Amino acid sequence: MQSDGAEYAGSALDTVWWHARGPAPAAHPTLDGRIETDVAVVGAGIAGLSTALHLAEAGVSVAIAEAGIHGCGASGRNTGFVVPALNASLGPAQIVEALGPEQGRGLTDLVVDSGRTLFDIIRRHAIDCDGAQSGFIQAAPFRRQWDGLRRRADEWSHAGADIALFDAPSTQARTGADGYVGAIEFRTGGTIDPLGFTRGLARAAVAAGAKLFERSPVVATHHHGDRWRVMTARGEILASKLVIATNGIWGPARRAVLPVAVHQIATAPLSPAARGLILPGGGCVTDMRRDSAAFRLSSDARLLGGGIAALPWGADARLPPFFKRRFERLLPGRGIPDAEHVWTGRIAVTPGFVPRLYEPAPGCFAPIWCNGRGNALASALGAELARALAKDDFTAFPLPREKPAEIPFHALAALGPRFWLPWARLRDAYDARRN
Ligand SMILES: Cc1cc2nc3c(=O)[nH]c(=O)nc-3n(C[C@H](O)[C@H](O)[C@H](O)COP(=O)(O)OP(=O)(O)OC[C@H]3O[C@@H](n4cnc5c(N)ncnc54)[C@H](O)[C@@H]3O)c2cc1C
Repeated sequence: MQSDGAEYAGSALDTVWWHARGPAPAAHPTLDGRIETDVAVVGAGIAGLSTALHLAEAGVSVAIAEAGIHGCGASGRNTGFVVPALNASLGPAQIVEALGPEQGRGLTDLVVDSGRTLFDIIRRHAIDCDGAQSGFIQAAPFRRQWDGLRRRADEWSHAGADIALFDAPSTQARTGADGYVGAIEFRTGGTIDPLGFTRGLARAAVAAGAKLFERSPVVATHHHGDRWRVMTARGEILASKLVIATNGIWGPARRAVLPVAVHQIATAPLSPAARGLILPGGGCVTDMRRDSAAFRLSSDARLLGGGIAALPWGADARLPPFFKRRFERLLPGRGIPDAEHVWTGRIAVTPGFVPRLYEPAPGCFAPIWCNGRGNALASALGAELARALAKDDFTAFPLPREKPAEIPFHALAALGPRFWLPWARLRDAYDARRN
């Protein structure tokens, strides 16, 4: 595997709200020379760091090479929703359909517990990230979605999730938003400052004995005898096992996923009067439009949310007023302030939105646990991957180990979401008219 390998290395976090609110991150050395370890991890986002933390806690030596600084990828740029669910199209039955009964049930259990797992990590390591287990709400804007929503609530409850189902008036009271016909709340979800969480994971991993190297983009990996050689510009890691946790930015899973740019804003703080009217019980909302709207408040009452753009050019100027208008439609009369922070991150979308564990060669793993919902899932699957690696036993791991399959016409397919968006908005407008 060869590459210059550092999409995020040069991209500053300066405009990211989480970076502005938090203290300066701890600095870590650049890899210089050769080190030997049991497991090498490439990428210091939530996936790589949760794996490394749990490996180090199990007494396995681990070294992480990060192209930029830890948290500079999607993990430090996201909205901070803690989502103990997969994409809305995947309920427990669809997960079993995709993975078979054993792994399907295993993954469903892990997803159901993933909110608790993340908040346990926060408590156990005293991570300062404004964590609040105040619920994740999936809201339905269209009348035709109501029956499916009720069924989905039953299915998740039956699978052990702590679920509340809201009709239209209680959705309005719970979220402060107009126009939803109903909603499900996953009560073990909630909100975090994702950059603060990622930094806390890094601190805990290093305290447990992991070695973290920053500004050390991996440029090549080779299998050599019974060892993996992980090469950076000035150093190399020799390891028995290799975990490439770059979220498809670099490495063998790059063409097995679709990269999608997601734009975010944080507004100026809301007025004191408006604060109590939006999500009065805390938590976060994603709706079930195709072009989904999402929002939450920060601890200082900024509205945070965003989405994707059909055209990348000028998006930073065009999107803040667009997202503000969307907030105004959902939350009328609340005096939505202008955006003060605007930034972009990148998600990796897998075929069928199912999380994947790729194993391109024996002993080399490339997890893709994103699909825009990786905070809880990558925290929990990282802990599972660490258990499997520490015992060298994947029988209980809830995903198959697959060879990465290149998405046909990858460069063209990667443009798909841009073409899909105008169509999705038309369909949303059509459904809204039929409401
Ligand atoms: C704008 C946005 C909003 C989102 N909102 C939410 C949300 O509210 N809730 C939720 O659950 N999920 C959300 N997500 C998804 C979530 O952020 C991701 O699923 C999760 O952060 C993925 O973690 P990761 O560790 O796999 O990837 P990343 O955090 O991207 O980490 C990958 C790391 O690999 C490094 N890297 C890349 N190439 C190399 C190399 N060659 N050598 C060394 N290092 C390398 C990168 O620099 C990066 O630090 C959102 C994503 C975005 C972009």
